[in-house]
Amino acid sequence: MRYHIWTEGCQMNEADSARLAAALVRMGWRETARPADADLAVVNTCVVRQKAEDRAASYLGHLRRIKQDRNGQAPLSIAVMGCMVGPRSDGLRARFPYVDVWARPQDFDVILRRLMPDTDLGGEFWPDTLPQPIGPTAFVPVIHGCNKFCTYCIVPYRRGRERSRTIDDIAREVAFHCSRGVREVTLLGQTVEAYGKDLPPGPSGEDKPDLADLFAAIHDTPGLQRIRFLTSYPRDMTERIVRAVAGLPKVCEHFNIPVQAADNDVLARMRRGYTIEEYLDWVHRIRDVVPGAALSTDVIVGFCGETEAQFQRSLDLLEQVRFDKVHVAAYSPRPGTIAWRHMEDDVPLDEKMRRLHAVEALQEGIAAQINQALVGATQDVLVEAEKGGVLTGRTRANKLVHWPHASGQGDAAPGDLVNVRITRASPWALRGVQAQTAVPA
Ligand code: SF4
Repeated sequence: MRYHIWTEGCQMNEADSARLAAALVRMGWRETARPADADLAVVNTCVVRQKAEDRAASYLGHLRRIKQDRNGQAPLSIAVMGCMVGPRSDGLRARFPYVDVWARPQDFDVILRRLMPDTDLGGEFWPDTLPQPIGPTAFVPVIHGCNKFCTYCIVPYRRGRERSRTIDDIAREVAFHCSRGVREVTLLGQTVEAYGKDLPPGPSGEDKPDLADLFAAIHDTPGLQRIRFLTSYPRDMTERIVRAVAGLPKVCEHFNIPVQAADNDVLARMRRGYTIEEYLDWVHRIRDVVPGAALSTDVIVGFCGETEAQFQRSLDLLEQVRFDKVHVAAYSPRPGTIAWRHMEDDVPLDEKMRRLHAVEALQEGIAAQINQALVGATQDVLVEAEKGGVLTGRTRANKLVHWPHASGQGDAAPGDLVNVRITRASPWALRGVQAQTAVPA
């Protein structure tokens, strides 16, 4: 029996797909890249933006045609998982009647129970089923869900409230990955610094564990070289966590802290829970405590009621902070959210696109300057892939680097940490040559 999984959206969805794939493999299934060859096709969906939802709908149309054309072959079962699936899926069932299974995010059991109705598959986190790593990096979800209810966001409705895994469970997964060649793990949460707030205190009444404790607990895992973490949320950050990033050598000094807007009225309408002054305070504290830290952010343009002057504050913020990377999106109302119910989507689409392009153009110049300053410097790079004689990897600051695989340079391969001297830079990536000395393990 063969399965095919199509994944849209964030790293959490990628991690969920990997975990489902591991369970299917454990049950004796094999993966196929072609849905036409599959007995089961899973569509792991994202609805954070309309485009992502449209892509899933279009892919389901493609699967429907495959299912209809089976002509005597084994039937194709279609499962839809992820954020498209809310608590009630009646509307979806009517719209996509050919889908066999609807599963909410991480509700893998629903899919597997359909395939193996008589087997006890365990609890939500599947303690015995760990995703098989592909390559030297792995995503490890550490906290699921979100309690914040930003007015534009559908995530809390689809992924539920914050639920942290225990440190032991996570450490076991990290050790499993590292025993199979993983050298870098990214600890995932919608608001990763909320890690541990929902866990009980220790047996002797110690404080609840936090992200700093988790870093320390996995830091010395044999084989592990790097620890990353995503996504930061200003109100959950603590001085202790920032100091842990500075103090633990394997934790990469890279923070992804979505700001979304730089005007306090817009932030209040988004219900982000901080002012721009509080956000900037964290930027300064991080840069004080972790010198050279790379910062990336997310910005939404054209949110309900955003004036030109308020948008200009977002541009001013980018000039002021000079992020290494900015992910920008034009606001699109998501059915079921607070903004969809109570606010007018009153910025015209062409104006949203103008603002989006203005952010992209400004950030392109800033990233070009930041990256250009690295030319001539030697960076620690974890090799992630080799293709056509070109090696690709990332610096500790999460910058993509390409360099030619030349003989006599220690035969670098995926999973190796090497020194690369940067020779060229663009806003999006670096090019270089491998220095002779490898980074000590
Ligand atoms: S913090 Fe806000 S934007 Fe992020 S997942 Fe939670 S509700 Fe959504």
